[in-house]
Amino acid sequence: MKTLIEPHGGTLIQRRLTGAAREEALEHARSLRWLYPGDDALMDAEKIAVGAFSPLEGFMGQADLEEVLKSMHLASGVAWTLPILLLVDEETAADLREGETVVLAQRDDYPVALMEIQEKYRINPQKVAQGTFGTTDENHPGVAKLYAAGTWALAGPVMLLNLVDHPWRHLELLPIETRAEFQKRGWHRVVAFQTRNAPHRAHEYLQRVGLEVADGLLVHPILGSKKKGDYDNETILRAYHALIDNYFPKDRVFIAGLAIQMRYAGPREAVFHAIVRKNYGASMFMVGRDHAGVGNYYDPFAAQRIFEEFEDHEIGVEIIRFGNVFYCHACGSMASDKTCGHGPEHRVAISMTRVRDMLKRGETPPPEMVRPEVAEVLKAFYRAQE
Ligand SMILES: [Zn+2]
Repeated sequence: MKTLIEPHGGTLIQRRLTGAAREEALEHARSLRWLYPGDDALMDAEKIAVGAFSPLEGFMGQADLEEVLKSMHLASGVAWTLPILLLVDEETAADLREGETVVLAQRDDYPVALMEIQEKYRINPQKVAQGTFGTTDENHPGVAKLYAAGTWALAGPVMLLNLVDHPWRHLELLPIETRAEFQKRGWHRVVAFQTRNAPHRAHEYLQRVGLEVADGLLVHPILGSKKKGDYDNETILRAYHALIDNYFPKDRVFIAGLAIQMRYAGPREAVFHAIVRKNYGASMFMVGRDHAGVGNYYDPFAAQRIFEEFEDHEIGVEIIRFGNVFYCHACGSMASDKTCGHGPEHRVAISMTRVRDMLKRGETPPPEMVRPEVAEVLKAFYRAQE
C-alpha cells in the first residue's frame, strides 16, 4: 500500500499536552520560573512540539549544535542544517540550573510550553553565525538577530501547553492536519511550494510543473510580519485563492500557511525548509534562485547545489530545481532557460517588484506577468492603503 512520506527521522514528534495532563501542567507551571523569550523562540518551541521540526524534541544542546555547524547533521547522524537554539543573556542564565523546569511564556497570562533545562552552555556567536549564515557580517539580518540575542543557550525537551497566540493562526495548519488532509484526498506524492509573496505567472508555471508529476500541490506560504509595502498575509492568501479558483483543478491544490521566522540562511535554510515540508507530508520540494537569500550573501544557485552534499535518502525529499522562468513571445507560452531556445528580446521578465511598481502607478500588469484575477486582489490592497 502506498502511503505518505515518513516524517524526518521516522516519527512525527508530538509533544502537546491535552486534557487533564495539560490542566495539571498549567497548575504546576504557577510554581515555576517564567521566561519570556519572544515570539520567534516561542514559535520554534511550538514547531518542535507539533512535529514540524521532527526529529527535534527540544532546543539543541551543544553536541547537536557543533555537529550541525560542522557537518549539517545532528549528533544522532540525522541530516539537519540549522541551529534551533533558545538563547538567554548571562544574568538570566546565572539564575537557572540544569534539571530545572521553566515556563516559556508569551505573556503573564499565556504560557506556551514547559521546558526541562537539561543543559546550559555558552555559545560563540561568531562561530554560530559563520556556520549558519556563511558570514559574520552584522548587516546580515540573521546575524544581527543572533548577535542581539544572549550568548547562553538553554537546551532540553519542550512540552506544549498552548499554541502561540498570533494573528494568522486561522490561516495555519499543523503537520498532523495537513497529513490527514492528504490522506483523505488519496495523495501520496505531494509537491510543496514555498512562498512569501502573491503569485505571478512564473510561480504558476512552476506549480503546474509540480502538478504534472505529483498527486497534489501544497502551497505553503510563510506567514509573518511584513515590511512596509509588502503584501500582508491575508492578501497573499486571497491572491492564491483567486489563482486556484480560476485556473487550477481545485481538488489537486491545497493551501495552508506556515508561521515560522525567516532566518535568511540561504542554502542551509533551503534544506531546512525541505525537511520541514517533509514533516507536513510533502515528498517533493521546489527550490528556485536564491532560496531564503538576502542581499548578495549567497550565490543564486548555492541553495540548489547544497542538496548534493547529502545522500538521497538522508533528506528523503525530491528536490525540483528551477532557474529563470519568463513569458516567451516566440514560444507563445511560459518557458524557462531549460525549455526555450530564443533570445532575451523575445522574453518578458517577470518579477513581483515589476508587478508591484506597475500596480502602484495605477497600471494593470499584462496577463503574461500576472493573472487579471490576481491583479484585482492586489489592486484592492493598494486601494485599502489610500
Ligand atoms: Zn522561446
